Amino acid sequence: MSSVSSVGPRDATAFEVREALALPGCAVCRLSLRSVSRLIGSIAYEQVNDLGLRQQLRRGGGFCNAHAHQWLEEARSVLGTALIYRDVLNTALNEIDVNAVGPQRRRLRGLLGGGQTDVRCPACDAQADAEERYLLALVAVVSVEPQRLENSDGLCRRHTLAVARLGGPNAEPIVNRTRTVLAQMLADLDEVIRKEDYRFREEPRTDSERSVPTRAVTWAAGARGLVDI
Ligand SMILES: [Zn+2]
Ligand SMILES: [Zn+2]
Repeated sequence: MSSVSSVGPRDATAFEVREALALPGCAVCRLSLRSVSRLIGSIAYEQVNDLGLRQQLRRGGGFCNAHAHQWLEEARSVLGTALIYRDVLNTALNEIDVNAVGPQRRRLRGLLGGGQTDVRCPACDAQADAEERYLLALVAVVSVEPQRLENSDGLCRRHTLAVARLGGPNAEPIVNRTRTVLAQMLADLDEVIRKEDYRFREEPRTDSERSVPTRAVTWAAGARGLVDI
């Protein structure tokens, strides 16, 4: 009892990882999404006047689709939204003027996109930074405290593959934990499919069988709100 948390990395990131490993779902998804939410909150409350950030948003056409809608739901900043998107709309108006004189083309494919897309959404940046930071912290934590994995849900597909690519002896227990969780999910899915058959439909379902469709989708796609970048 006494030594579990006294070894291993002690910084705040490692502490967050330990906490998240004890909660349902992929710890890296959970912590990365929290970082994105915090960024959105801090843009709304302080950083609307950060010139570098405003330029990034202006040149990138605002937040990406997923984060733009997250901004609307979470930021709740009328002034911040007005300031940021006045810039974005003005910039877009200039782009439309420039592109309006282009030669006529028949096919839509190839016409979509092609804006100033090498500027990434700042919330996507925050997600990418957080994913890397928490993945590395998680590997460091479980290398000295492997018991942290025992009751965890393992990582989602995206983050398990990232750990597998990272490789090394410290990646192995994490990948193995995910394998165990997947085997259990597959067994539950088999039971769900069997009990959908009219002959077995009356058999009671376990909590685990009731939740497995959602868990399987979430495992494969990552937690809700995580962006593919
Ligand atoms: Zn994940
Ligand atoms: Zn984004």
